[in-house]
Parts: sequence; C-alpha cells; structure tokens
Amino acid sequence: MDFRINLREREDNKLVMPSENEVYDVAIIGGGPAGMTAAVYTLRKGLKTALFTFDIGGQMLETYSIENYMGFRFIEGSALVNKFSSQIKQFELALLEGIYVKKIMKNEKLLSIYTSNDRIYKSRSVIISAGKSYKKLGVKGEAEFTGKGVSYCVTCDVPLYKNKLVVVVGGGNSGVEASIELAKIAKHVTLIQRASHLTADYVLVKQFEQFKNKQILFNSEVIEILGDERVRGVKVKTNNTEKKILEADGIFVEIGLVPNSKFVEGFVNLNKYGEIIVDEFCRTNVEGVFAAGDITSVPEKQIIVAAGEGAKAALSVYRYLNNI
Ligand SMILES: Cc1cc2nc3c(=O)[nH]c(=O)nc-3n(C[C@H](O)[C@H](O)[C@H](O)COP(=O)(O)OP(=O)(O)OC[C@H]3O[C@@H](n4cnc5c(N)ncnc54)[C@H](O)[C@@H]3O)c2cc1C
Repeated sequence: MDFRINLREREDNKLVMPSENEVYDVAIIGGGPAGMTAAVYTLRKGLKTALFTFDIGGQMLETYSIENYMGFRFIEGSALVNKFSSQIKQFELALLEGIYVKKIMKNEKLLSIYTSNDRIYKSRSVIISAGKSYKKLGVKGEAEFTGKGVSYCVTCDVPLYKNKLVVVVGGGNSGVEASIELAKIAKHVTLIQRASHLTADYVLVKQFEQFKNKQILFNSEVIEILGDERVRGVKVKTNNTEKKILEADGIFVEIGLVPNSKFVEGFVNLNKYGEIIVDEFCRTNVEGVFAAGDITSVPEKQIIVAAGEGAKAALSVYRYLNNI
C-alpha cells in the first residue's frame, strides 16, 4: 500500500521552474499550509500558477506533533508537510524555493514580484501567504551565537541537548512546550518568564510542573548571551534590578512570532501588529492582491485556518480574474 502511494507520488512530480518570460495568472508567496492549499485550488481551476517561497512547509516544519488537523488524530509536522507537498507536485506548478520575495510592485494591470536571487516575475494577481517568524530577543550575543547554542526551533535542536543545561525564554504555549520536550532529555531546564506567571495552557503548565530537573524564574529577562565559540551562559535580570549569570549550553527563544510582512510595508495596508488587513474574500486594499494565513488580520493562527483561508483566497482570485 505504502509502496503504491510512494510510486504514484514520484510519477506525479510535475513541478517546473518559473520563467521571467511568462505572465502568471497568480503568484503565491509563501509555501506554508496557506500557500500550498491556495496552489492546489488555483491549479485545479486551471490557473497558471507560480509559487515563490523560502521553504516548503512553513511553521509546520517546526511542529513536533499536530493533533488538531482534521483527518489525523496525530501527525508529525514533517509528515503533514510531505502530505501537502505531494499534493502540489501532481500539478504543473512553477515553484521557486529557497529565495525570499523582496518587493511587489503594481504597474497598470500587472504585478511584478522581485525575488532575492535578483529575478523579476510577472503575474495578473498575487496571494501573499508569507506567514510568521520567530521574534528575536534583541540582546547582545543573540545574533553572534545563533546556531551556536541560540535556537528558535525546538523540533530541530532538542536532540543536541541531551544531559546539557538549557535555558528557555518565554512562558507561553511555545515556551512551556519547548521546556517539556527539553526536560525529557536535558540535565536541567531553566524557564525564564518576564511576567509573574506562566501564560501557557493549564494542561501544559501541569505537565511541566512534574519535572524535577527544572526551575522557573518569574519577573525575569535575559539581558545578554555569553560564550566563546558557542553559548556558555546567560545574564539574567530579575525584578528589574538583581542580575545573575546562569551557566547554559543552549538557549531557546520562544517569545512569539511576528508577521513576515516587512517586504509589503507601504504596498498593502497593515494593522498595528504588522498583519495584512483583508476582507472576508481575502482581498487587500490593492486590486488583484490577496492574502491568506497567519500573515493576515484574520484571527486564530492555526494550520486548518491557514489552509482554509488559502483555499478562500484562491477562489477569490479565480472570481477576480474572470471578471477583469
Ligand atoms: C512550534 C509551533 C507549533 C504549532 N503547532 C500547531 C498545531 O499543533 N496545530 C495547528 O493548527 N497549528 C500549529 N501551529 C501554527 C501553524 O503552524 C500556523 O498557523 C500555520 O503554519 C500558518 O500557516 P501559513 O501558511 O499562514 O504560514 P507559515 O506556516 O508561517 O508559512 C509561511 C511561508 O512563507 C515563506 N516566506 C516567508 N517570508 C517569505 C518571503 N518574503 N518570500 C518568500 N517566502 C516567504 C516561509 O518560508 C513559509 O514557507 C504551530 C506553530 C508553531 C511555531
């Protein structure tokens, strides 16, 4: 059974490279659940579709277990990414991966998509589904030690911290989930929380409390990351005054996400959180430009919501193109 599915998926791979000489019906920016779902819908409507993305999967690549995407009681993030990507591969989708879109411009009826590999692609409509990325701490040592002990991806890096000392910053769901995964294998986990309590779901807090190899520092923040070739510790400020140094082999920054909307600032309207403002048809304020998923003002940032909004944006594009 599995063999048959794999064989079919391999035969089905019809992806092509986008061309600067083509005019696409729709250019989709972002290969997360919103973008991939949008692609399936536009391709099934026969629209000439190009997808520009840094990666295929988006935040799903950073998720251990998904238990709330319908059809699966439990599925690993990477497995769900494979399911989504095998579905887009069956169409002649023009896919450019491993780049960023730097800018979008509108000239009369056509939209130009400027990519980080210095190419310009043309399209009659655009769906922006560039999602969100991890917020940075913005402290000394963070940039220097990223990948050398500073991590934003628990799924990727937890195995590196077996029997090690780790610090997790952030007491929301991501921070506590990260702390639980780490506490299972690390020697000790210190969770640093700026507020006076954890804001994660009750179930997660209860789970974390069961570990003996942990401590929680409330009213605290990391003010510097210390190290030589890699992280050796963090400087922490508690109650705004008291400072101390904690020994650490790694630090996980889990303080939330920000929309990847910098590249469309001044092109489409954003709200105060930097999210693209859309109406119920996923339309932005610029004609022919639609948006879907976590990058938008639509509440609830979930895979199923992003996928649903991607489908909606694609169908709105189809209607738009038929009416111009
Ligand atoms: C740790 C973690 C656990 C989660 N667990 C769950 C869960 O259990 N269940 C659930 O439903 N949801 C969960 N979520 C939320 C869910 O993953 C998101 O809501 C969903 O992935 C949003 O999809 P999206 O397509 O809008 O954006 P994203 O998934 O963020 O995808 C954005 C895509 O755009 C690309 N991109 C960004 N900027 C550019 C650019 N300038 N040019 C080109 N490409 C660009 C990225 O590479 C990426 O491919 C979790 C999120 C995290 C971080």
